[in-house]
Amino acid sequence: MPQCRICNADQSTQFIRAPLVFGGNKEHHFWQCKHCDAIYLYPVPSVDEEKNFYLMEFEGFMSSRVGDHRDWSNAQKHKETNQDQVIRRLPFIEEYLSPGIDILEIGCSTGFMLDAFKAKGANCVGVQPSGAFSEYLEQQGYEIYQDMNHINNKKFDVITHYFVFEHMRDPFQFLTDSYLLLKENGVMVCEIPCANDPLTSIYNIDAFESFYWSIAHHYYYTPKSLDFVLDRLGYKYKLVPEQRYDISNHMIWMQDGKPGGQGKYSEIFGQDLVDTYRQKMIDTWHCDTIFLYVWK
Ligand SMILES: [Zn+2]
Repeated sequence: MPQCRICNADQSTQFIRAPLVFGGNKEHHFWQCKHCDAIYLYPVPSVDEEKNFYLMEFEGFMSSRVGDHRDWSNAQKHKETNQDQVIRRLPFIEEYLSPGIDILEIGCSTGFMLDAFKAKGANCVGVQPSGAFSEYLEQQGYEIYQDMNHINNKKFDVITHYFVFEHMRDPFQFLTDSYLLLKENGVMVCEIPCANDPLTSIYNIDAFESFYWSIAHHYYYTPKSLDFVLDRLGYKYKLVPEQRYDISNHMIWMQDGKPGGQGKYSEIFGQDLVDTYRQKMIDTWHCDTIFLYVWK
């Protein structure tokens, strides 16, 4: 039995939140801490196991997982099939984008967000550990680093990352390192899955439970556990709830035990119902996503 990986609370306050870990073995579980609310992978994969996973397996792993229209077969197609993400995410960052600013995206994948920032006149730098995508990004003319810690003598007005934070072994170190790369008055904008996701926190769907909890993540965060991390660091921050998946997606999980239902019943339900359902999840914090803002 572990101690909490976030607050070090003792074993008596830890329980198994998710017995099954996608891509893991029988020993892996996600544990949760009653003290700080952190949900964490244990046993912890070694640094070497993790490196190997990112160098060799990540794209294949993702394409076996997403179950939607996103195409991981090549970089160009991946970019094209992620334009809906660009449209969804831009409103969360737009007010910080202006011509001439320096922006860093950590985990920039095939660069579909960088393209959108560049179109607003921002100077874009990316961090991308995976070999195949970083070559492609350099061909597109982006300044790419394999690791954030390789960036020297450069600071940014905006640092952003999408579904990266939960992969980090040490969230305190990761936030401290990225905070150092911010200019004075700079901002971090981070999109993080929220473990209050109704598919796991309201509905009990076995198929979802064996899909959701992934070996690629060290942690799953709730608003309470993010508060714990950010308060300990003493940063000025804000959490904003977001709901990515719609009522049809949730119904298909219940009906077929599968992802990929997004939009399926929208025509029948009508936009009012689709919007109301989404807004209720957001208003009650029963949502699948959190935007975290940190200001320097
Ligand atoms: Zn804890």
